[in-house]
This record gives sequence, C-alpha cells and structure tokens, in this order.
Amino acid sequence: MKTALVSGASRGIGAACAVSLATDGLRVVVNYNKSREKAEKLASRLGGVALMADVSDPVAVNNMFAVAGNVDILVVNAGIAMQKLFTDTTFADWRRIFSVNVDGAYNLIHAALPHMIHEKWGRIVIISSMWGIRGASCEAAYSAAKAALIGLTKALAKELGPSGITVNCVAPGVIDTDMNCSLTPDTLASLIDDTPIMRLGAPEDVAGAVSFLCSDRAAFITGQVISVDGGFAV
Ligand code: NAP
Repeated sequence: MKTALVSGASRGIGAACAVSLATDGLRVVVNYNKSREKAEKLASRLGGVALMADVSDPVAVNNMFAVAGNVDILVVNAGIAMQKLFTDTTFADWRRIFSVNVDGAYNLIHAALPHMIHEKWGRIVIISSMWGIRGASCEAAYSAAKAALIGLTKALAKELGPSGITVNCVAPGVIDTDMNCSLTPDTLASLIDDTPIMRLGAPEDVAGAVSFLCSDRAAFITGQVISVDGGFAV
C-alpha cells in the first residue's frame, strides 16, 4: 500500500485531500501544526496517522518523515494568507508568509525525495492559488509566495521526470474554508460574482483534482498548473 502525506491536513482543503486519498486506497499521514484534536480525529477515521510538524521548521519536518516512514505521494498544502497593503507589510510579515508557503514546500519536498528517487516513482502536488497566477491587491506577499510555487513546480517537473516523479500544481480559486472566514459577506458576494460557476468552491472540488494528479491516470502529466477556480482566472 502506498503512503500519502498531506501537509496542513487538519482542516479545509488538506483535510478533504486526506479523505479523498484514503478513499483511493492510500495510507494517509495527516500533518498538522496547531489543530491536534481535529487531525487525530480525522486520521483515526481514515485509518492513518496524525503527525505534528510546523512545515517552516526543517528539523520538525525531518523528524516527522522519520516517524511517517516512506512517503510515495506528497501533497504540499499547508499555507497561510495575509491581507495588507504592501506598504504596511513588514519584512517579518513577508518572511512569515514565505516561511510557511515556500520554505515549507522546500522542507517537505527535500524530506520526501530520497525515497521517491530510490523507488523511481513519486507524485508531488503543490497547492498554489489563483492569486499566484493573477496577483491580488493587498496580498502581494501571498501572491508572490504562491507564484514561487508555480516556478518550483515547473522546475522540479523537469528535474525529477527522469526519476519517475511527477510534479504538478493545483491553483484553487475562492474555496469555502477557515482561510476566508474574515472576508465580509460583500467581499464574498463580489468574489462569487467574478466566478463564472457562480459559487464558492468546496474543499472537495480541490481534492478531486489532487486525487486525479496522484493517480495512475495522470502518469503522463507533469509540470502543469490546474486551476480549480470555477473559471475565475480565465
Ligand atoms: P485553512 O482552512 O486555513 O487550513 C490551513 C491548514 O494549514 C491547516 O490544516 C493548518 O494546520 C495548516 N498549517 C498552517 N500553518 C502551518 C504550518 N506552519 N505547519 C503545518 N501546517 C500548517 O486553509 P485552506 O483554505 O484549507 O488552505 C489550504 C491551502 O490552499 C493553502 O496553501 C492555501 O494557501 C491554499 N489556497 C486556499 C484558498 C482558499 O480560498 N481557501 C485558495 C487558494 C489557495 P493547523 O490548524 O493544525 O495549524
């Protein structure tokens, strides 16, 4: 049985990915940072394991992989957002956004690769954002970090293809999770208005694309950015 590790799987999109991959027959490692109870409950429901690690901390990530064992499929999902004018964004804000979203991807992929390269098989799916494609006003740090993940996806797809590893990116639109709970009803309504499908996305919408990219049906797909945004970024 293959093992999938989903970072930030205690809630939202990561939790939906963990459910979907477990339904596909994989052993799932549910990574979390703060939401221990939720992660443990989910892992026990899925017959998997919940492991704590702040993805921005390379030591914590390596320790998590030492406990998780060999990981065949990695979903780089853990992320944080921030809304601020660029002129108000401190260097500490900037580093915080990059440390979880981008350094986290580096730490997770570095820890996962030795086994994948040894097996000459692996699947990596990185969760970016439509803002990494389009850029969002008052989210410059987040947009830059999510754009960095797209560059990383394309570069790694080329570097790791010969090792039998595919690397793809999913760019969600506005998804109904805690990440958007501070948006006002007016803002949400206007975002829905800009979405051709005319609704918020569900975490399961994203998880479906992730499951597909991790499956044998996607064996010849690598280096791609799949938008799951109801048409927002078209
Ligand atoms: P969410 O509901 O806020 O959940 C975030 C998840 O990331 C939680 O499980 C949280 O774990 C985990 N996390 C945060 N910091 C972490 C850290 N340092 N180490 C380990 N885990 C950490 O967010 P979401 O909406 O599901 O977002 C998931 C991903 O999709 C993110 O990368 C986000 O940028 C991206 N995305 C979301 C949307 C959207 O509209 N929601 C759109 C585009 C892209 P704990 O609770 O355990 O701390």
